[in-house]
Amino acid sequence: MSAPKTAITPTRADDFPEWYQQVIKAADMAENSETRGCMVIKPWGYGIWELIQQGLDRRFKETGHQNAYFPLLIPLSYLEKEAEHAEGFATECAVVTHHRLEAVKDEETGKTKMIPTGELAEPYVIRPTSETIIGAAFSRWVQSYRDLPLLINQWANVMRWEMRPRMFLRTAEFLWQEGHTAHETAEEAIEETRKMHKVYADFLRDHLAIPVIPGEKTENERFPGADMTLTVEAMVQDKKAIQAGTSHYLGTNFSKAQDISFTGREGSVEHAHTTSWGVSTRLIGTLIMAHSDDDGLVLPPRVATQQIVIIPITPKEDTRDAVLASCHALATTLRKDCKFHGEPLRVLVDERDVKGKKWEWVKKGAPLRIEIGPRDVESRKLCLQRRDKPSNDKEFVDKEDFLRNVTDILQEIHDNLLNAATAFRDENIVECSDLESFHKHWKQDNPGWLLTPWCGSSAEEDALSKEHKITVRCLPLDKQDEPEQACLVTGKPTKLRALWGRSY
Ligand code: AMP
Repeated sequence: MSAPKTAITPTRADDFPEWYQQVIKAADMAENSETRGCMVIKPWGYGIWELIQQGLDRRFKETGHQNAYFPLLIPLSYLEKEAEHAEGFATECAVVTHHRLEAVKDEETGKTKMIPTGELAEPYVIRPTSETIIGAAFSRWVQSYRDLPLLINQWANVMRWEMRPRMFLRTAEFLWQEGHTAHETAEEAIEETRKMHKVYADFLRDHLAIPVIPGEKTENERFPGADMTLTVEAMVQDKKAIQAGTSHYLGTNFSKAQDISFTGREGSVEHAHTTSWGVSTRLIGTLIMAHSDDDGLVLPPRVATQQIVIIPITPKEDTRDAVLASCHALATTLRKDCKFHGEPLRVLVDERDVKGKKWEWVKKGAPLRIEIGPRDVESRKLCLQRRDKPSNDKEFVDKEDFLRNVTDILQEIHDNLLNAATAFRDENIVECSDLESFHKHWKQDNPGWLLTPWCGSSAEEDALSKEHKITVRCLPLDKQDEPEQACLVTGKPTKLRALWGRSY
């Protein structure tokens, strides 16, 4: 028997990375550009980002943060202030050295060339992250303990000269938000770091239907200049890990380097404790790899640009108007009368006269498709197709019943995606306490993650990482006080567990 035909070639099983590129192309989400490592995000992809922004922005405001905006270009001297930070980003920085172009005509070809001139006395770095430039502003804004806490978020683009770019997951320029906060005490700053880490975990679960493992990074994997980095780690369908978001406690490292100091309650001069936290367009790549199938993108309803696509079936000219009217009436009722998580439904009537419309929406991942034809207009029925079910499954439902149940159906789609992703992840995390099975595990194709007892040193972690092309994804927060077991490498008793995996 030949394999069933799929809308995407290759399938996930055949070539996962190539399948990923093809899903993006088939859904018309983004394309590579001529600018190295950078992509063009097309409307269907950008719509997802806008919904991610809205959902997160609401949660940031609910937790007391305000948005602000800082310059794209950072004076080079700012980056030199915090040594570890400077070193961490040194190999990924794009630098602006000139501020003018001069038109020079080539005598032979007659063509005009633009030559950079006007060299800057001090170059600027295009922000790879904004701790240094936001810190400079904080140092002006903070004078007394009464000015704290300072809770700021910026929505922006950043640039990191990534050597191995991959659309959405790792691009040279990417869109993100970066939270930056300053506090009077270490306790408050650590509480903020944990709070925003939880905001990310909740958002991924409730909006993207992605279950994450919240944990702490080891020293080897920490953000350059941080005292503690918390991460949310997602498993995607080839069992690799994706670091979906991070929240850093920066101690007083940046405030000392940048003089974010204040007069404390007792009148002495103190340094603020700072945090930073960010998620990026990588969330879209994570979403694609977590849920999509061999027929294309699968979108959880809360981040679907269109949640319901109504396709009129108009075989004959004389019933066409009645069918279209019925489709638009349904769309209007859905938009007006139904709400999903407090928001009006996003519904599109696709009237275009093109072949293969249904498959276009399958590939774009619209959660619900509805077909209405001449007979359905009379019987007040509709044909319902769900993206979380096999692509050819059809259900004929009464229109009134559908209107009553539509938000439950959307929630069910979300829950099905979340449950499937959770079950897949849990099946693919194995506990391992001896070195021999540890080494053996990584020889398999697509190995899942391993959870091991751990209290090894950075050097020991590094050696294992290099040998198997793996990393400690995190020390899971809910596994920091486990029954004592012998550490995988040192043999010493430990209550800590480390989660290992290959990652994007
Ligand atoms: P960081 O400031 O390094 O902690 O990064 C914050 C978040 O941005 C990370 O947790 C990633 O999810 C994301 N990120 C980092 N580098 C990239 C990149 N090159 N492309 C897309 N997202 C990125």
